[in-house]
Amino acid sequence: MRQMRRIGRILMAMACVMIMLSVELTPVMAVTWADIAALKDDASDLGSQKKELQARLDALANDKSQAMARKKLLDQQIANTSAQIQNVESQIKNYEALITQTEGELVDAQEREAAQYELFCSRVRAMEKRGEVSYWSVLFRASSFTDLLSRLDIINEIMDSDQKVIDELQALQLEIEEKKTQLEDSKAETEAAKADLVAKKTELNSQRTQANQVIQQLVSNENETEAAIDGLEEEEAAIQAEIQRLNRELAAQQAANGQSSQSNPGGYIWPVDSRYITSTVGGRASPGGIGSTNHKGTDIGRVGYTSPIYASKAGTVIVSQYSNSYGNYVVISHGSGNTTLYGHMSSRKVTVGQYVNQGDVIGITGSTGNSTGPHLHFEITENGVRVNPLNDGAEPRMGYLTGYTLSGTA
Ligand SMILES: [Zn+2]
Repeated sequence: MRQMRRIGRILMAMACVMIMLSVELTPVMAVTWADIAALKDDASDLGSQKKELQARLDALANDKSQAMARKKLLDQQIANTSAQIQNVESQIKNYEALITQTEGELVDAQEREAAQYELFCSRVRAMEKRGEVSYWSVLFRASSFTDLLSRLDIINEIMDSDQKVIDELQALQLEIEEKKTQLEDSKAETEAAKADLVAKKTELNSQRTQANQVIQQLVSNENETEAAIDGLEEEEAAIQAEIQRLNRELAAQQAANGQSSQSNPGGYIWPVDSRYITSTVGGRASPGGIGSTNHKGTDIGRVGYTSPIYASKAGTVIVSQYSNSYGNYVVISHGSGNTTLYGHMSSRKVTVGQYVNQGDVIGITGSTGNSTGPHLHFEITENGVRVNPLNDGAEPRMGYLTGYTLSGTA
């Protein structure tokens, strides 16, 4: 937008000078068009060449696909880890349920122990009252049922029925204790495994966040690069609009000076000695991903960097400058709505306002601007519309370019 405003201001300034000049009947183009040199600076403001941008875009696309592949792997890892964590969590739940159950069994066993002990004690008391077994009194010093059981080993004298019950209780208690220990070990192991997996999941989640940030950054860089390329295309459109405006101004000048500004359609000659066409007006694949995909001109190849470029038709030079898209380019006005444009020159040999005869050298071929190799980008505009310079036989037009070879056919 800044660019457009600047171009607009310059064009307005030029229009003012034009009006002054026409009032004074000063010879057309004498000084006025020097202002166009200012556009040169604007053009360089547009930033990097499309070629560089495209290379960056390709590199970014590469980075992006790598980042996307990395993200995909991370997502798979995360899904896998999440499933593992879920599995471990249900294992832990089962272990916890078993532990609760075991704890219940232990309480139950302890209650049975206590009951058995109580029964045992009352029996001994009864025996003592009858004066039958005084040695049982030793057992009353026991602090608990467990203590009692160990004392029994020493005494080694007890009723068979009681001994049997005590043995069973002892075995049960051991079994329950072992089971509880086993379950608590398993629970601890499972909880450690869970902690590892939770840490792994956290790490993977953070990697995924980073990968997403990288992807977002890459996409945003890609968008910026695409915006810059769009800027070049906007520049081409702005240049075309500017050419039409300049051409109208020139025609108005010429009319004011009593000169004819009538266009004489046709009458073009080849602008270079080569007849080798690498691209015609209309759609084409963008070569190497660089260059316009909707081609507005005719590209003539096999010209190298040193071939002369001729004025295809006599006229007044209305543009001779550099742009990011056309590189060094020249536009010649041939009358109302009729211009020719010559792009990607290595050097320009004419200045704005200069009158050129048909066949005069206006520049040297090259590959400046948005170009992949040396060629002449040539455009003919008639009635303000770009037309096909080539006589393709479908619509015979006198004076239009013939005798060429299309790339791919020779
Ligand atoms: Zn071209």
